[in-house]
Amino acid sequence: MADENFGIVIHGGAGVLSNLSHEQQQKIEKKISQTLLSAYEIIKNGGTSLDAVEFAVSELEDSPLFNAGRGSVYNFDEVQEMDASVMFGKDRSAGAVASVKNIKNPISLARKVLEETEHVLLVGDGAESFAKDIGEQIVDPSYFHSDKNLKRLRKAKDKITQTTLVHDKIGTVGAVALDKEGNIAAATSTGGMTNKMPGRVGDTPIIGSGTWAQNDVCGVSSTGHGEFFIKFQVAKEVCTRMEYLNQSLKKSANDVINELMKVGGSGGLIAIDKDANIATPFNTDGMIRGSITNKSNLLVEIY
Ligand code: ASP
Repeated sequence: MADENFGIVIHGGAGVLSNLSHEQQQKIEKKISQTLLSAYEIIKNGGTSLDAVEFAVSELEDSPLFNAGRGSVYNFDEVQEMDASVMFGKDRSAGAVASVKNIKNPISLARKVLEETEHVLLVGDGAESFAKDIGEQIVDPSYFHSDKNLKRLRKAKDKITQTTLVHDKIGTVGAVALDKEGNIAAATSTGGMTNKMPGRVGDTPIIGSGTWAQNDVCGVSSTGHGEFFIKFQVAKEVCTRMEYLNQSLKKSANDVINELMKVGGSGGLIAIDKDANIATPFNTDGMIRGSITNKSNLLVEIY
């Protein structure tokens, strides 16, 4: 039956991936496949898309391979500030956190904002004290420490000025899913961009830019140069074109990413629609991505 379609798509960021070693590539592909298969089980067994996307994103946050949670990149002051958001298309409920430094899984805190507060977005100290109040797992900043990411920052600082952001070859993570009830959910998490100004917040925790989920239309998670994704409201734009222009998911998603390229906005997105069709356009050298639906086999790609 058409309304029994279901599936999940995840990403591990878009960027300049041309110098990934074969070994790194294999590690990334393995992590993406494992995460996808476990998340797919959740919806295959009748679980919600919201549970599936939170699970997938938290798995990738726990891996140092991606720029989110544990693998987060550093800002200009050599501090890791993380952003995340989640949205459930059934009722447009949404939760997000920005500039958090001690939360093991920012995506889980974002979900708590969705479920346990009247708000959509909590930032910095307020988000962290909410996390403490509800018993969310807090870790010492040393948990996120990465020599590799520090080197990346210091190298960038040698070359450029404070205002120049670096779009790394490692990326943000995200997931979109459609469950058997027809509910669409989307989630995104990031450490942002290397050398960002302290306090800078990108598109990831901004509902409509980094994340969007709307039942009967589509769900989107973005990755790329966040400032462009905010100014062009990328995630919502994909769904809006489908809704009002009657476009297919593929056309809408491809057009939006092509248009971004014309104004210098690099990045990509993953999307799923109400029939479990998927789209994964990007205008960078690569985007780490994978998908599996009831009508398409497991697929993991980088280029
Ligand atoms: N969109 C993220 C940001 O601007 C970065 C990324 O996707 O790589 O914070």
